[in-house]
Amino acid sequence: MGEIPYKIYLDENEMPTQWYNVRADMKKKPAPILNPQTLKPVTVDELSHVFCTELAKQELDDTTPYFDIPEEIKSFYKMYRPSPLVRAYFLEKKLGTPAHIYYKFEGNNTSGSHKLNSAIAQAYYAKKQGLKGVTTETGAGQWGTALSMACSYFDLDCQVYMVKVSYEQKPFRREVMRTYGAAVTPSPSMNTAIGRKINEEFPGTLGSLGCAISEAVEAAMSQDGYRYVLGSVLSQVLLHQSVIGLETKAALDKYGIKADTIIGCAGGGSNLGGLISPFAGEMLRGEACYDIIAVEPASCPSLTRGVYAYDYCDTGKVCPLAKMYTLGSGFMPSANHAGGLRYHGMSSVVSELYDQKLLRATSVEQTSVFEAAEMFARVEGILPAPESSHAIRVAIDEALKCKETGEAKNIVFGLTGTGYFDMFAYAKYNDGDMRDYIPTDEELQKSISKLPKVEMCV
Ligand SMILES: *Cc1c(COP(=O)(O)O)cnc(C)c1O
Repeated sequence: MGEIPYKIYLDENEMPTQWYNVRADMKKKPAPILNPQTLKPVTVDELSHVFCTELAKQELDDTTPYFDIPEEIKSFYKMYRPSPLVRAYFLEKKLGTPAHIYYKFEGNNTSGSHKLNSAIAQAYYAKKQGLKGVTTETGAGQWGTALSMACSYFDLDCQVYMVKVSYEQKPFRREVMRTYGAAVTPSPSMNTAIGRKINEEFPGTLGSLGCAISEAVEAAMSQDGYRYVLGSVLSQVLLHQSVIGLETKAALDKYGIKADTIIGCAGGGSNLGGLISPFAGEMLRGEACYDIIAVEPASCPSLTRGVYAYDYCDTGKVCPLAKMYTLGSGFMPSANHAGGLRYHGMSSVVSELYDQKLLRATSVEQTSVFEAAEMFARVEGILPAPESSHAIRVAIDEALKCKETGEAKNIVFGLTGTGYFDMFAYAKYNDGDMRDYIPTDEELQKSISKLPKVEMCV
């Protein structure tokens, strides 16, 4: 082994004390989010009906570069952070590459992913505002789990609307949430007007993320002392997730390592945005240059095949509109897509950085993603989440390119979580039953053609 340890840990006193808001260093800012009723930029007041006031302020602040991390959140972070930056010696050896590969592992907590970094912050601000509880939706279940952990820590009520198909297919996820005290309701439910309407229109439906969002928003608005929270896409979530990138940069700096390539998987863009924020900040200020790569599934390719336009963030059209790379809020990835990252749009911050060419994007097919996951699990020991494995795939591909050219590049990627609750997907792969699906241009055009026409209102 070389002089770089297998795991690079920061000491507790080297952990970030502030989150970094990359929007502050962007000369051209992401476009403002719009009120769905008026199509005018939303105000903190309007947003505060749905979100906690402090989070609404963070959402709309594109000039303050650093936000102090409150004491309570810093001490909660210490239970599972700093997360290790691991030198993937065994993967390098397996590939025979001269590249040095590092991964930032966010799966070291019960929720199994980076989502806890923002869940604890959102629960904290809800508690500080004196709220009784929060509502949210969850698809695969990682966000609901993270939020239920955060709410139990602050003794807040947590109501999770879980897409019915996951509720039935992932009973163990549901039980983890209930163990932390959350009320988990399969969506569409009979608790809300929108749920009852959808159940009536589509009897026997197993639900969708868009429908669960609408139910969670309605539940928050109709109960005193409740607000709605969301685990990705929003700029406040990217802000909290900047802790990933800040720790990564501090650990690299500690050992005098300069990253060449930085890779993250991209669903709604929160882990990628958080990982790359400090590095993109250096690029924006003209201090350094990096090759940043966003990896998305070929079956849900918002950056590589979507359009950059205003769109609804949810199918029910109750949330603000955001300008983002999108496939249209009516887009549903093929049912055979098992690898997560199913959101139709991309964070407006990541979208704008991509539009300014500070990062590039690539899409990968799910069988090649699971091939990479299997190789990684066998040599590095960690069973990765399918989402994270998109980044593994491209890290391997980049390392193999270095083998051709003989370059000893430093490749850093985000390993966002573990895959223990995704064993149906692994079973499909192990049984040889996994198929790839790439939507045709005509299919994408169908949902893209229904984008709202709001460009003229801003
Ligand atoms: C939710 C999730 C993602 C994708 O969400 P982003 O907001 O794009 O980061 C990736 N990996 C894991 C393990 C997740 O739980």
